[in-house]
Amino acid sequence: MARSVLVTGGNRGIGLAIAQAFAAQGDRVAVTHRGSGAPDGLLGVKCDVTDAAQVAAAFQEVEAAHGPVEVLVSNAGITDDTLLLRMSEEQFTRVVDANLTGAYRVAQRAAKGMLRKRWGRMVFVSSVVGLSGSAGQVNYAASKAGLVGMARSIARELGSRHITANVVAPGFVSTDMTASLPEERKKEILGQVPLGRYAEPAEIAGVVTWLASDAAAYVTGAVIPVDGGLGMGH
Ligand code: NDP
Repeated sequence: MARSVLVTGGNRGIGLAIAQAFAAQGDRVAVTHRGSGAPDGLLGVKCDVTDAAQVAAAFQEVEAAHGPVEVLVSNAGITDDTLLLRMSEEQFTRVVDANLTGAYRVAQRAAKGMLRKRWGRMVFVSSVVGLSGSAGQVNYAASKAGLVGMARSIARELGSRHITANVVAPGFVSTDMTASLPEERKKEILGQVPLGRYAEPAEIAGVVTWLASDAAAYVTGAVIPVDGGLGMGH
């Protein structure tokens, strides 16, 4: 059944791969962007998830074009890495605002339509470091761990209405976010990944579309690693 899907940060990287995977299976797909416009075939809505008014306007636009959002993928995210002692409060709160509070803003808005429909799927894109921690990423790891508690609370609140909330925790994926890492750091990371390579964005997308499918109707509150084995044991 074709669904109305919204992917935040779906204009590039992992979000774009997710949006394209839903579109390929015939869903009506909208993506947020912050000015780049939308890739071909996808409905683009301008939205910075740190701005509640822009979130409200984006949902109105998507609903007018595609109907209420039935599948929400909260994927938008940023990093701003530095060690704890050097991290300013602004650096901490800015990352949490985009990655965690932004997810809350879109989840709350999406829940309204899902509750009316008594059906919905929410998928939150977290990270392996949300559970393992990562030196230099106190802000980012905290925001990504926070998504787990949030998704599991939503799973408990809305489960009786056939709404699931799950988390996907990627390891290292070839996108702009990882391209900027120093070569030394990349080598170091790959040495710890049992599969010995980065993921392609499409490999994250496959798990997200599965979570939104009927096959995953009984999966909620789960944290699914897609990390080549990097986070095993957490
Ligand atoms: P990119 O840096 O390639 O893309 C980030 C996306 O998020 C862009 O679409 C960007 O929009 C959007 N975005 C950032 N801030 C905001 C905001 N305030 N409001 C709306 N959109 C915003 O990242 P990836 O594709 O690599 O990452 C996607 C998600 O996956 C992130 O949540 C990231 O933390 C997570 N992740 C990534 C991993 C990796 O190895 N790449 C590993 C684990 C998790 P714009 O184009 O306007 O900047």
